[in-house]
Amino acid sequence: MRHMRGFEMMKKQRLFYGAMILMAGLLAGCAGASSEQNNVDLSTAAAPDVEVEALSGIPEDFMTGADLSSYIAEKESGVTYYDFEGNALDDAGFFKLLADGGVNYVRIRLWNDPTDDKGHTYGGGHCDLDTVTELGKLATQAGMKVLLDFHYSDFWADPGKQKAPKAWDGMAHEDMAQALYDFTKESLQHLLAEGVDVGMVQIGNEITNGLCGTSYHHLMTELLSAGSKAVREVAAEEEREILIAVHYTNPEEENYGEYADYLDRYGVDYDVFASSYYPYWHGTLENLTAQLALVADTYGKKVMVAETSYVHTLTDYDGAANTESAEKGFDTFDYDISAQGQIDEVRAVMQAVLAVGEAGIGVCYWEPAWIPVSVYDETSADAAQVFAHNQEIWETIGSGWATSYAGAYDKDAALYYGGSAVDNEAWFTADGHPLSSVNTYKYIREGATLGEGYSRMEAEPVPEVEEVSSDLPGGAVNLLANPGFEEETAWEIHNLTGEACAIEDDTNNVLNGEYCLKFWDNVDFTFIVTQTVTLDAGTYHYGGWFEGGDCGDSARLALFATTGEVTDNIDEAEYTADTTAQGWRTWDNPELLMEIVEDVTEVTVGVFVQAPAGGWGAFDDLYLYKE
Ligand code: CA
Repeated sequence: MRHMRGFEMMKKQRLFYGAMILMAGLLAGCAGASSEQNNVDLSTAAAPDVEVEALSGIPEDFMTGADLSSYIAEKESGVTYYDFEGNALDDAGFFKLLADGGVNYVRIRLWNDPTDDKGHTYGGGHCDLDTVTELGKLATQAGMKVLLDFHYSDFWADPGKQKAPKAWDGMAHEDMAQALYDFTKESLQHLLAEGVDVGMVQIGNEITNGLCGTSYHHLMTELLSAGSKAVREVAAEEEREILIAVHYTNPEEENYGEYADYLDRYGVDYDVFASSYYPYWHGTLENLTAQLALVADTYGKKVMVAETSYVHTLTDYDGAANTESAEKGFDTFDYDISAQGQIDEVRAVMQAVLAVGEAGIGVCYWEPAWIPVSVYDETSADAAQVFAHNQEIWETIGSGWATSYAGAYDKDAALYYGGSAVDNEAWFTADGHPLSSVNTYKYIREGATLGEGYSRMEAEPVPEVEEVSSDLPGGAVNLLANPGFEEETAWEIHNLTGEACAIEDDTNNVLNGEYCLKFWDNVDFTFIVTQTVTLDAGTYHYGGWFEGGDCGDSARLALFATTGEVTDNIDEAEYTADTTAQGWRTWDNPELLMEIVEDVTEVTVGVFVQAPAGGWGAFDDLYLYKE
């Protein structure tokens, strides 16, 4: 999964959206009363509360998978899962529930060494080889096959990050290829020796933009070939069939032909070309089919969707903001926000894969069991205690997406460590009761008719996002050059301590355009950004837009203007307008008024920020105009 996107992992700020979330929460029912959440009457749960038209032409051996990588850490954290009758499930019961629901494959990510030098877990399910082995055995015992997902990293690998494991860092390329071969071979041998039924191995995770710290195709393919060779050798030794998959994402960029081409040119030996497909971000299903068909038809490969998921609610129930939330109204919600919508989404994705023809071999749902440790409700009196409890468990057990200990390895984790970003995409309610979507695959194969007394689920409304307008008053002319930071011109950036500030291409954190003035550092920092203009006498407005977080009470964030020298003491400037960090996409609009008495006065306007380690933010669309 493209797990981290900009500042999404921030704890939610709900200044603009509070009413919407409250409404969503009311519709979803409170998490503690799971039986109400989707109208499920637990006593007669055999009757579906969803309607699904059976999808024809699904081969018997079509992979209908679920990525359950966080399951072991969830159980260690005290999470309980239930069956439809409300009985608490043991491990075998949990896996039987999923198997009965049609899951035939369990996908599990493997990180090389997801711990810091003192042995603290990085979190994210602490998916080292021991954890993968334990989980793999549970899946095998339930009659499911395992898709082993090598990230070839110590933590999350996705389009935004492909960091080599610590132990491989700085290795010459041939040595890294050897290390990757050894790790692949030894890990796979270990799992098979432990009786884990590995049916497919993914060499790398979402390698669209690189692998193990490199984005050069000739180096990436050398590493992929080393992994592939190891899998082929183990499969031969063990006399079993193990499919080898490569895994890319962002089908909407329409590059799959190029990726398959370089894999072909460099002779990478693989069987399956897999894609992620998240409907909020990844374009149309017609395009997905076309991209996969191109690879299948041109290079004779099997194809599949290795990750997909969909929301059943927009409410967060663990206190760690979700990737898809009411704030993400600008993402695409093509299906109902309900268990019905979850099933409809997977059905549509399966249809898209099947449309490729025989080469289309499977679909895998991402992390349907990653639910809250304890159910968090920000409006309840004990919200702070519940969050503190969750945070403590995430930090010690590793059942959240990242611990603070991961920060030294993963810059995003230093900023946004915490719980699950996808608890609203699970097949379970926040307190562990199954939604009808646990039966997604069974219903898609067999169809489902609404049980007596049920009507089609009431979907949560798709949120509308409040637009922030940065238009100037009618007739006003912006006197700043490069006001939206779309170029590297006009502004002087002085990082006085730290290296926090830069103009960055980051559409997740812009108000408009593609670039913004962004900052973050893992040490305390101070910076000043300036632009000098010459003004005639008059009254001027200097302002702009700011979003940010984790700056604490000690930070100073301000716009300033001065006709004198700029110093590192912002209070020496004649004009200042302070701002505060109120959260991701919560834009503040600091503005100052200045009186210029003489024509041809040189004025320096700018941004001043002094903040503690971990503080982050973005300025965009600054303006200066004459009244
Ligand atoms: Ca969450």
